[in-house]
Amino acid sequence: MKRPPNNPPLHARRRRYAGAALILTLVILVAVGMWKTSPSRPSRQTIEARPVRAVMGTTCSLAVVVKPRHKKHADAALRNAEKVLRQVEAEMSTWLADSQLGRLNAAAAGQEIALSPQSLEVLRAAREATEQTDGAFDATCRPLIALWRDSAARDTLPDDVELNAARAASSWELIELTKQGAVKHNSTVQIDLGAIAKGYAIDRAAAVLKDATMDGIPINLGGMVNLGGDLACFGQPAHGEHWIVDVKHPHAPAPMAKLRLRGGAVCTSGNYARFLEIDGERFNHIIDPRSGRPAEMTVSVTVVASTAMTADIWATALSVLGPAGFDRLPDGVDALMITSQSEGSRMLCTEGFRDLLEHPLPAGLSVVARP
Ligand code: AMP
Ligand code: MG
Repeated sequence: MKRPPNNPPLHARRRRYAGAALILTLVILVAVGMWKTSPSRPSRQTIEARPVRAVMGTTCSLAVVVKPRHKKHADAALRNAEKVLRQVEAEMSTWLADSQLGRLNAAAAGQEIALSPQSLEVLRAAREATEQTDGAFDATCRPLIALWRDSAARDTLPDDVELNAARAASSWELIELTKQGAVKHNSTVQIDLGAIAKGYAIDRAAAVLKDATMDGIPINLGGMVNLGGDLACFGQPAHGEHWIVDVKHPHAPAPMAKLRLRGGAVCTSGNYARFLEIDGERFNHIIDPRSGRPAEMTVSVTVVASTAMTADIWATALSVLGPAGFDRLPDGVDALMITSQSEGSRMLCTEGFRDLLEHPLPAGLSVVARP
């Protein structure tokens, strides 16, 4: 099987990944444990935290800041937030054959599959994101994702015939969203919500925490949902004036930077934690739907936005678009990007992202001007 022309030989790739590893990996950590021991926490507040057993293929933690007398209601809100996460997973996971999306993917052409308002909301947002990102974000690219996963399983690169077939099968033109569901025009089109459903779930769970009341009065002073490092936080932080989100160096115990947030969402997409391996070479799990090949421009992208769904979408989209994608970022969406070695191993961020970083700023950081 021939190597696709875009892929450099193995030794070059090894150098690239060694270089990338030297730069850094971004992992978001929120120090829930620290809050509990904070000496500055007024005694009239308490932190209620709930570790959640694996959901959506990852770890999760939920936490709220409440007055001690609201503890019981806070615990109920945390349980409800977990339920919401599991409900989104049950409806939208494409790993579950009997989820709504599982049924849609298996459906024949012309068969309308009923979808919940939530699934439809995410599908509509995904379709809109394809337009906003000039095709870089495309939830219909599941045939391409499946092709590259199969290629990894058989340890053989896909050939042009396979690539062209999968590209042709990946298009919003092949699927119609109706009032209550979706109809495929061609049985081969399939949806993958892996780059948006987690963000949506975080927003829904955060809304449950935010809206918790006792006798009609809001009880939560602040809260946080952390789903595998993607997170949303709101209200009063558990500790100090800001929510502190560590941007951690992979090979050093100290974080390379810290974000100071009043609230909002942070999502990261990177090729370091999840990747495919074919014939000894590593490939990004994010696909560039325009070429049909794994994205190659970035090592890691972290996005800050008002909602986790938006941050989730743009972290994936910028991973495909590379530095040129900064021009497309909507207002209120900020990003930090580490480019791959072939793109100069640069660390770039928007002005808004830079303003959220604690000083001193990481060495080598360049600010990209927005148009
Ligand atoms: P994330 O790690 O959040 O960027 O999500 C990556 C996941 O989204 C992949 O594992 C695929 O399931 C899916 N995906 C890959 N490439 C794309 C793309 N270009 N647009 C939308 N979803 C994608
Ligand atoms: Mg994501």
